[in-house]
Amino acid sequence: MSRPVQILDNALGAVGYTPLIRLDKIAKAEGLQCNLLGKVEYMSAGGSVKDRIAKRMVEEAEKEGKLIPGQSVVIEPTSGNTGIGLAMACAVKGYSVIITLPNKMSLEKEAALRALGAEVVRTPTEAAWDSPESHIGVAQKLQSQIPGGIILDQYRNVNNPLAHELTTGPEIIESVTATPSTPEKPSSGKVDVMIAGAGTGGTVTGISRAIKKTHNKDCVVVGVDPKGSILAYPDVLNADGEGELYIVEGIGYDFIPDVLSRDPQDIDHWVKTGDEEAFDAVRKLMRLEGLLVGGSSGSALSGALRWLKSKEGQKIAQTKGVNVVVLLPDGIRNYMSKPWFLKMALEAEPSPLAEQIAGILKDS
Ligand code: PMP
Repeated sequence: MSRPVQILDNALGAVGYTPLIRLDKIAKAEGLQCNLLGKVEYMSAGGSVKDRIAKRMVEEAEKEGKLIPGQSVVIEPTSGNTGIGLAMACAVKGYSVIITLPNKMSLEKEAALRALGAEVVRTPTEAAWDSPESHIGVAQKLQSQIPGGIILDQYRNVNNPLAHELTTGPEIIESVTATPSTPEKPSSGKVDVMIAGAGTGGTVTGISRAIKKTHNKDCVVVGVDPKGSILAYPDVLNADGEGELYIVEGIGYDFIPDVLSRDPQDIDHWVKTGDEEAFDAVRKLMRLEGLLVGGSSGSALSGALRWLKSKEGQKIAQTKGVNVVVLLPDGIRNYMSKPWFLKMALEAEPSPLAEQIAGILKDS
C-alpha cells in the first residue's frame, strides 16, 4: 500500500497513501498511556479522505459504462470534500461537474471547486435532506433535466465504504503491523481501537470492515457524531443537543445514509461532540503536533479523548502499547476564512515572545 516511487500518470495516483503519525504530546498532556495515532488525510492529493471515494466511484462507473467522456455531467450533493475529489478526477478525465453545496460550507471549498472547473450551486443549510431545496433535492432536479447528468451518490454507492475497506483500512493496518514494538515505543502490533467521525458514514463503516474482517475482530470501533445530528446509535444518544445547529463541516446529518452501518458489530460505540471542544482539539493538533487539520479532525480527536475517559475506554487508555487510531479527515486550508479559525489563529493569548518583540521594536 506504499505510495509508488515511479512517476505517476496523473494526480489521481497521489490519492491516499497517507501517513499514520504519533500524537505523543497530546497523549502525554491528556495522561494517556496508550499509543494515540492520527491518520492524516489532508496529505492526499485533493486534501481529504474523500478523494478516495471520488476516485473509486468515478473509475467503477467508467468500468460499468455509466460515464462517457465529453457527454456525462457528474452531479453530486456534498459538504465539499467529495466534490473536490470528484472535480479533481473529472478534470483529469474530462467530465463536466456540478456540485450542490449547503451554504454553511466554506468559501475555500467553493473556490477550490470552481478552480478545478466545477459549477457550484449553493443550497440552504436548514433545508431538510428530502426537501426539493436541499443539496440532495437540487442535485436530483438538475440530474432530471441535464442531458448526460449522473449522480454517483455517495450516500448509497457501495464504492464509498468499499474505497475505505480497500485502501484507508489496509493502510492503517499496514502502518501498525510494520512498526516494531520496542522498549521505548511498545506496540500490541494490532489496531486495537479505531475512531472516526461520520458524515455519509462510509469512512467509519469501511475501515471497520477492513480491520474486523482481516486483522483484529476484537478491535473497538468508535463513531463520532456532532451534537444536533442523528447518526449516533442507540438513538437516545442523539437527545444530547437535539436540533442544535453546529459549525463543524462534513460530519453529521438529519437522515441515516444507506452506506452507514448501524450494525453494532461494525461500530461498537458512538460519542457526541460539540463545536467548542472540536475547535479546542484542532488547536492542540496544531500547537502540540504541528498538524494543519480541519474542524472535523478536532471532532474526531475530541471524541477519542471523551471515549478514552469513559467507563468503556479508561482501561485501554492506561494500557501501554495499545494502538488507538484517530482518523483526521481534512486540512485547515479548507477553513482559513472561517471565524472560528481566525479567532483561534489571530486572537491567541499574547506570548512572552510577542511582548519581547514589541519591547525591542518600541525601543528601536
Ligand atoms: N470530515 C470531513 C471534513 C468530511 O468532508 C467528511 C465527508 N462528509 C467527513 C469528515 C466524514 O466522512 P464520511 O462521509 O465518510 O462519513
